[in-house]
Amino acid sequence: MVLRVQHLQNMKDTNARMSISKNTNRLDGKSPIPAIEVRNLTVSYGPVPALLDVSLSIAPGQLVGVIGPNGSGKSTLLKSVLGFVKPDFGDVELFGEDADKAKGRVAYVPQRGSVDWDFPVTVGEVALMGRYGKQPWWRDLSAEDREIAEYALEQVRMSEFRNRQIGQLSGGQQQRVFMARAIAQGSEILLLDEPFSGVDAATERAILDVLETTREAGRTLVVVHHDLTTADEYFDSLILLKQRLYAHGTPEQVLHPELLSEVYEGKLRVFSHLPVAGQSEVGQRGKSSE
Ligand code: ADP
Ligand code: MG
Repeated sequence: MVLRVQHLQNMKDTNARMSISKNTNRLDGKSPIPAIEVRNLTVSYGPVPALLDVSLSIAPGQLVGVIGPNGSGKSTLLKSVLGFVKPDFGDVELFGEDADKAKGRVAYVPQRGSVDWDFPVTVGEVALMGRYGKQPWWRDLSAEDREIAEYALEQVRMSEFRNRQIGQLSGGQQQRVFMARAIAQGSEILLLDEPFSGVDAATERAILDVLETTREAGRTLVVVHHDLTTADEYFDSLILLKQRLYAHGTPEQVLHPELLSEVYEGKLRVFSHLPVAGQSEVGQRGKSSE
């Protein structure tokens, strides 16, 4: 069953949206070009496809969650949008432009396990990395770049750690530093792979605050999320994947018991405390995957 309901664009912050429109000359504020358009995407690493014929469209300014069981292609979807993996078939457009040409418009916060934390670099340097690539190669970073990086660290409340090596931080702090780097990039689209994985409740709240502030600034966020018990509370819309796109719509539409039991099969028992679609009560928070 494929339920593909496009969410109406959240028009809360028209001004921020319009300023992005001006910057890009691509949106007129009336008929928004999707921030992300995925068409018939099929990606394989070997004989079995990780993603099969996935088509979806994400409006600008949305905070979107990607859910699905382990190995369902969530990370592959993000990597495809980033152009890190080559599709067998299909394509991705960002703001109506071929994704290859629009790479500078996307920032990425990888899954924590995929980063070498022994790399000798400080918190401040990681945030500044967001500004390289915005400069021609012959020019050094400007005072403004440094201010932007510092402001990004403030937003994730990591300024006081600016001289600390990244290897000497807790998991949640490392996550926030990588978010600062992504924010410093100033990209219109942010992709985050399980940012809440392995962090404590206070850090989870802090990260969610940053996601919401970033959305209010008119940016588009796509977040791989493991915890179904918070998915309805955190996101404007959800994408449910298991190799194929099973659903894309409001949390009520996607967190439908029948749909979830089809996708999660026998493992749904774990989520038996989920509210029936439409109700707001949320049970005990699940544990993260890693
Ligand atoms: P998820 O993020 O939902 O857990 P992934 O996108 O990481 O899923 O993986 C989807 C499928 O592709 C899985 O079966 C996984 O084993 C496989 N896969 C992912 N990355 C690779 C890779 N680099 N090489 C081979 N297989 C991979
Ligand atoms: Mg993954």
